[in-house]
Amino acid sequence: MVNQRFKIRESPSPNHGERRGDARVDMLILHYTGMASAEAALERMCDPATEVSAHYLVDEEGLITAMVPEDRRAWHAGVASWRGREDINSASVGIEIANPGDTDFAEEQMAAVAWLCRGVMERHGIPRRHVLGHSDIAPGRKIDPGERFDWRGLAGQGIGLWPGEAQMRGRAMREGDHGEDVERFQAALATYGYGLVADGRYGAQTAEIVAAFQRHFRPARIDGQADTQTRDLLAGVLAACVDQA
Ligand SMILES: [Zn+2]
Repeated sequence: MVNQRFKIRESPSPNHGERRGDARVDMLILHYTGMASAEAALERMCDPATEVSAHYLVDEEGLITAMVPEDRRAWHAGVASWRGREDINSASVGIEIANPGDTDFAEEQMAAVAWLCRGVMERHGIPRRHVLGHSDIAPGRKIDPGERFDWRGLAGQGIGLWPGEAQMRGRAMREGDHGEDVERFQAALATYGYGLVADGRYGAQTAEIVAAFQRHFRPARIDGQADTQTRDLLAGVLAACVDQA
């Protein structure tokens, strides 16, 4: 790797295995560590007893640590789903970003994340729509990389998607609603990638998925309700999937 500006050090983790199935890597999953320090996170991900890992860790200063080779299956996604697939670990590269969860990400750290993401996307031909957060693939179970993460800034650099202007017809909805409008809205969520069945009932699972969608695209209000702005953003994301994926 040609790398003028960012440092990569190696700290091999024993926590990895063979990629399963067709083993094609076409997803990039971003996480935050949720721990007080990058060193503590590194120690945890290199401890065989924890059975967790990621391919890379990016610390607060932008130092990148390689833990698992990209051709191996790291253990970062857990129970997850996207576009009908559930073994996300076999299909993805995972990057952990040091952040306790309630702190802004430093500029130098995000610059390193962007540089690393671009390299991973190029090496594996990962489409923009497959650059996702842990919360996207495991809504209701995970909230990282959190609402402070600058998805919009990354999308401006070609990493991940950002919705354009669009409108979704139908009414605003929330948990407890049911009917055809709900079913159409759920079908749109499933088309984007979330693992849900469009049964026309806006239950707890749909609300969790809407909250995950908001955490990524409308962090100013994360309430699980399909208000007009949330619906229009979903339409904009689907349009971006067609245009940019
Ligand atoms: Zn995570």
